[in-house]
Amino acid sequence: MGIDAPETSADVREQLLAVLDRVWGYREFRPLQERAMAAVLSRRDSLVILPTGGGKSICFQAPALLREGVALVVSPLISLMRDQVAQLRQNGIEAGSLHSGQPQEERAEVARSLRAGRLRLLYVSPERLALEDIESLLLGAPLSFIAIDEAHCISMWGHDFRPEYRQLARLRELHPGTDLHAYTATATPRVADDIVQQLSLRAPELLRGSFDRPNLYYSAKPRKDGYDRLLEVVRRHTRESGIVYCIGRKEVEKIADRLRADGYSAAPYHAGLDAETRRRNQDDFIADRVSIIVGTTAFGMGINKPDVRFVVHLSMPKSLENYQQEAGRAGRDGLPAECLMLYSFGDVFTWERMSAEAPRELQRAARAQLDLIHDWCGITSCRRTALLRHFSERYPLANCGACDNCTGGNPALPDSVEIAQMVLSCMVRLKQHATAATVVDVLAGSKSPAITEAGHDQLSTFGLLKKRPRTAVADWLAQLLDKGLAAAGEDGVLAPTEAGWEVLRKRAPVMLIDRLGASTVAPKVAASDELSPGEQAVFEALRALRSSIAKEKRVAPFMVFGDVTLRELARQRPGSPAEFRACKGVGDKKAAELAQPFLAAIRASRARADAESGAPPPPPPSAPAPKKPGGEVAALRRRAFDCLAKGWGVEEIAADMERAPSTIAGYLVEHFEEEGLTDATPYVPAELAARIEAAAIGSEDGRLAPIHEALGGAASYLQIRLVLGCARRRSGG
Ligand code: ADP
Ligand code: ZN
Repeated sequence: MGIDAPETSADVREQLLAVLDRVWGYREFRPLQERAMAAVLSRRDSLVILPTGGGKSICFQAPALLREGVALVVSPLISLMRDQVAQLRQNGIEAGSLHSGQPQEERAEVARSLRAGRLRLLYVSPERLALEDIESLLLGAPLSFIAIDEAHCISMWGHDFRPEYRQLARLRELHPGTDLHAYTATATPRVADDIVQQLSLRAPELLRGSFDRPNLYYSAKPRKDGYDRLLEVVRRHTRESGIVYCIGRKEVEKIADRLRADGYSAAPYHAGLDAETRRRNQDDFIADRVSIIVGTTAFGMGINKPDVRFVVHLSMPKSLENYQQEAGRAGRDGLPAECLMLYSFGDVFTWERMSAEAPRELQRAARAQLDLIHDWCGITSCRRTALLRHFSERYPLANCGACDNCTGGNPALPDSVEIAQMVLSCMVRLKQHATAATVVDVLAGSKSPAITEAGHDQLSTFGLLKKRPRTAVADWLAQLLDKGLAAAGEDGVLAPTEAGWEVLRKRAPVMLIDRLGASTVAPKVAASDELSPGEQAVFEALRALRSSIAKEKRVAPFMVFGDVTLRELARQRPGSPAEFRACKGVGDKKAAELAQPFLAAIRASRARADAESGAPPPPPPSAPAPKKPGGEVAALRRRAFDCLAKGWGVEEIAADMERAPSTIAGYLVEHFEEEGLTDATPYVPAELAARIEAAAIGSEDGRLAPIHEALGGAASYLQIRLVLGCARRRSGG
């Protein structure tokens, strides 16, 4: 990344890149990794905040290989330690771990390696660290630095406070001369401050990455036919791994049983299962013996499986932090993955019931969190933008292209205006009784005692929407709140706002979306990256080979090679050991060990393909053609484009087509892409287009915000995207 460059000397950079290549087979840094590693090399304390999948572990692992002595890594869970040690060993790095409940011979082996000066990293649990002093742990081997993984566990404000982490506050005192480095994926400033305080970090290098996960597709729908929705997602991911979250244990068992009865490979996980069963189910999932884990929120901490391709929430989590954490377990490897949440307003009450025993103050805070996430469910604008905003980050694009609201995955509700008026007028009539639940009950024609005893069944709006699903009615109400057409007062009573009254008086148009009508949408982020059928066949063959090697080595398949590497091998089809070594994720050790079986498998699948097609296969295209979308979407894109060609602005097109401007922008970009257009000037003034291209040269990392800023806002984001897209296609990219 360009922004990293000035911070480290060319020398350090070269050294680090050489290690990354030799050990891991990576040729470039992820954002902020270079600076994080440089901080360790310069012995300056650091706090590194990167999202899940951001690549934190390598930030201390790589410099550990360049510094003298053994690096001590504190990690909260045995499973996490084991995984990291196993992965390091696969890459030829000597690492070990010490924790309670470890067999004597394992400890003795670690001690031997330490004495022989072979170990580069020693993982310890905080309990172990509290029991012994570090010198005796290290058995005289010199300490290089101390890394604290999952550092938020030290903070009460984090979502995963661990009392045993509190002991780490003594590290600074005990080792005044040793630099400390903390790593976490928890984004709140309060937690970050707390970590710095508790560990007494000295003028630490603070590195906070973007929390955007561009490879995740977000969507949320009111829960109706929840199991069918889940199946839609599961079917898109045959033989791939996924996590399904439920609120309660009973539901976990029910869904896992149902999936199994329907022929899918699934296992349950919740605190009610005995430890042995939990461990077995988790291990089976990690080793790809089970595809789907159905779990409560108890599942996930300590899972660093990189190839989880979907996360489905069958109920709403209790906060956006939890959602970010849980959904974030998808796609750590950076490949496309999808996150679907099914929600109902009832989930708010379910969570409230579960915290009914907690002190008042906590209950109020919990309710505020629930309201925030429920609001997020109801929005009709970009989900990514709203999620990032919650973490105080500004998302630069108007359309992220990877959430249900941005991809136009939900059609407009044909009778939007009438429905909006019914909901708003129901509020007006209910006066001080207009809570969200009552408004929905009245419109749905509920005969519950609460409604009839209050006489609400006498209102003219009673039962007006009784033919529509309740979840849909609740969602339309949420959309009206999101659009600012209604708002809740201090006491939670809803009323139309000034803008809402305009709708009631029929002076203002309004457009609601129908989230229940449409199926869940297959994420489009995948399209440009899809393997051709031939490549897919090679991929499957390599996947099978990976499984058998993993079994033999008794490690998880992803520790042999990640999907990123298998895909690259399937695309490149290396023919020689050197070509094999050049693939992403193939370091020296794996190249030496695995070239032979993998090259043989690639040759064999190539021969099979030749035999089947009767001709040698064409060389793999450098850029696969994007997939043609289905007819309906294509027609919408065409229509948006025709309007643009007529000289309409995006706002006008959006109003005409009853879609959000951001959706229209997405359509236009996609249309240009599909038609392979290389000249934007009929639609963007030539002079402006030239300025955009010039500004882009100075901003090599592909971000649009700097270009937008450089031009002082003269070009819209859409204009920038169109111009740069055309330029890229012109240059054959
Ligand atoms: P985190 O701990 O931040 O969630 P990990 O350390 O598990 O993330 O890294 C996530 C994935 O990204 C791993 O599969 C890792 O090997 C990979 N990765 C890390 N750094 C790089 C890099 N520079 N290039 C390519 N892949 C990387
Ligand atoms: Zn979006």
